[in-house]
Amino acid sequence: MNVKRGHTCAPSPPSLERTFVPQLAALFDMDGTLYDSGIDFAALRQELGFPHNGVPILKQLESSPPEQRERGIEFLHRVEAEGAASGTLIPGAEPLIHWLQERGVRCALVTNNSRASADAVLAKLDFSFDVVLTRENGRAKPDPGLFLSAMEHTGVRPEHAVAIGDTHLDALAAHRAGISEILLVALRDAFRKLIPTHVRYKEGRDLADVHRMIRDWHRIAGAATEAQDPLGH
Ligand SMILES: [Mg+2]
Repeated sequence: MNVKRGHTCAPSPPSLERTFVPQLAALFDMDGTLYDSGIDFAALRQELGFPHNGVPILKQLESSPPEQRERGIEFLHRVEAEGAASGTLIPGAEPLIHWLQERGVRCALVTNNSRASADAVLAKLDFSFDVVLTRENGRAKPDPGLFLSAMEHTGVRPEHAVAIGDTHLDALAAHRAGISEILLVALRDAFRKLIPTHVRYKEGRDLADVHRMIRDWHRIAGAATEAQDPLGH
């Protein structure tokens, strides 16, 4: 065999299946999920004269006569502002966000609440989000628009995102955005009834429970291989 001397050994061929770690994102609802604003939405509906039929309050206000709409929006803003100012972070929220961020998971806040309320809540926290989207940034949930924008901002595909919320609006919006992992915390019966059977989601009793589910999701979603990455990154 003709072996050339003096040459260094060629490097070993690369493994055929290199590990590809996809960018992951966790998309959080705010009120009732991470933050307890103390707003009683059932009472708020009653005050505004709206039935509890699954249609978001904002949507119902949009289709109200102008005078009722104006009064309703003013009332909603006042209640939201009070809730943002006097509410508290839900136990388990901070360790969960820290756990995700330590692992490089991008975190987004996706809320139907106003920018002013979100800013008031964020000012009380000692952690931040990669992106914060409020109703001023697009059509409110259950429209998928805000979740789609959050994934665009974080550069994450729906199969690499998890949505965490507490109502049918979160489940519907996430499902419509193509997000396969949907976690609902402390889901009330009234909201559960409004989720169509074809929408798949998991329920956690509290954020500690959701944290355990997110560990499982992170282990599975983060373990893709190069062969599963269509861009070949
Ligand atoms: Mg909520």
